Amino acid sequence: MNFDDTPEEAAFRSQARAWIAANAPKEYEAELRASSLGRTALKNANLLEVAKAWQKKKADAGWACLHWPKEYGGRGASPIERVIWQQEEGPFSKLSAVFIIGHGMCGPTMMAYASEEHKRHYLPPLASGEKIWCQLFSEPAGGSDVAGLRTRAEKRGDAWVINGQKIWTSGAHYSDYGILLTRTDPDVPKHKGLTMFFLDMKSKGVEIRPIKQASGHSDFNEVYFTDVVIPDSQRLGAVNDGWNVALTTLMNERMSIGAGVATGFPELFEFCSNLMLDDRPAIEDRNVRAKLANWAVKASGLKYTSFRAISALSKGERPGPENSIGKLVAASMVQDVATFALDLQGAAGVLSGPEAELAGKFQAMLLRAPGTRVEGGTDEIMRNIIAERVLGLPGDIRVDKDLPFNQIPTRGRN
Ligand SMILES: Cc1cc2nc3c(=O)[nH]c(=O)nc-3n(C[C@H](O)[C@H](O)[C@H](O)COP(=O)(O)OP(=O)(O)OC[C@H]3O[C@@H](n4cnc5c(N)ncnc54)[C@H](O)[C@@H]3O)c2cc1C
Repeated sequence: MNFDDTPEEAAFRSQARAWIAANAPKEYEAELRASSLGRTALKNANLLEVAKAWQKKKADAGWACLHWPKEYGGRGASPIERVIWQQEEGPFSKLSAVFIIGHGMCGPTMMAYASEEHKRHYLPPLASGEKIWCQLFSEPAGGSDVAGLRTRAEKRGDAWVINGQKIWTSGAHYSDYGILLTRTDPDVPKHKGLTMFFLDMKSKGVEIRPIKQASGHSDFNEVYFTDVVIPDSQRLGAVNDGWNVALTTLMNERMSIGAGVATGFPELFEFCSNLMLDDRPAIEDRNVRAKLANWAVKASGLKYTSFRAISALSKGERPGPENSIGKLVAASMVQDVATFALDLQGAAGVLSGPEAELAGKFQAMLLRAPGTRVEGGTDEIMRNIIAERVLGLPGDIRVDKDLPFNQIPTRGRN
């Protein structure tokens, strides 16, 4: 592994750095740097508006969705240039959170399966942040086992009629479009009867109900479909081939989510350096030091694992399972780190909001952490991937794989 930039990469880095220095919304830099891993918030500005304005500015100058082709709103850059940009964007990259699903998952799926006309129409405003997209896969009966989903699509003439329910749809309440996985044939095994579409989230019959989280925020939703009509031209891939289309989305999801999971260690280290425990900095306490040392080792293991993925990209190769490992280890680490920090904060850790100690940073981190362990594949699913693809262990047992979907026992549920 060689972590140094090649001369071309170094030139690209200095070009990106200069543009960011001249154009980034510096007035929010301090707040963005300080915002917790739980949730980015701006005190006196609307985060969505600031995020959209920054994204548009980047798009106008050719710095949005760098690895996408130019005709679809990107820059035609290499994967390693995209990584360099992300490193240079620093705290301003937190403004991209609302676009992650669209840019990381819906866009690549549209690029692989939509018609040329649709790609040219829908992708540039997605890249520039003028339109936001969401991913409508998970259902009460289909999360890890997404092929178990029940939302039906029935063909009527040149259109499809959708009925059913999705859940945990991040950002549905502010999204303009979504990609939607449905069941079109219940008489065949579950992976073989699915079809993917994209739709306008303002379509008649779409009802979005925000879910209130432990943090008090509502970042994701239940989405109900009642006789929603989608033209056949908005089908992505062949009828009943939705599983293969979904795999494109899910592979990109692992790349997007796994690559960016933080650990909370730098925040904890800084906190322990400043906190006084028994008349001396917490960092001098033996027990605190032992904990920090363990997490320092883990954090550096994660750093070099992600460098391995970056090195593969730099050589034009596809990264292996590094992102699954990164997500599995980092997501539970952030939960442990936040729990420890809250213990150190004592009663003050109960408070949240701008007036609380460190603005409730570790509390927000703790409340977000379980979601991070679940989204984009739970810990157990990540372990299955690592077991099967890295360690070569036998595959998970899938007893219903070859049964027609409508013959899978449901214990009386429809
Ligand atoms: C913050 C957040 C944002 C999300 N955003 C979206 C979104 O935008 N769009 C969307 O479609 N979905 C979204 N999801 C849903 C997410 O994809 C699912 O929650 C996830 O796939 C798990 O599914 P589930 O909740 O149904 O849990 P289940 O699949 O029911 O899992 C329950 C438990 O069983 C375990 N388990 C399941 N299968 C296996 C197995 N084969 N081997 C071992 N253990 C297993 C799981 O690990 C878990 O502990 C989001 C979730 C979260 C938390």
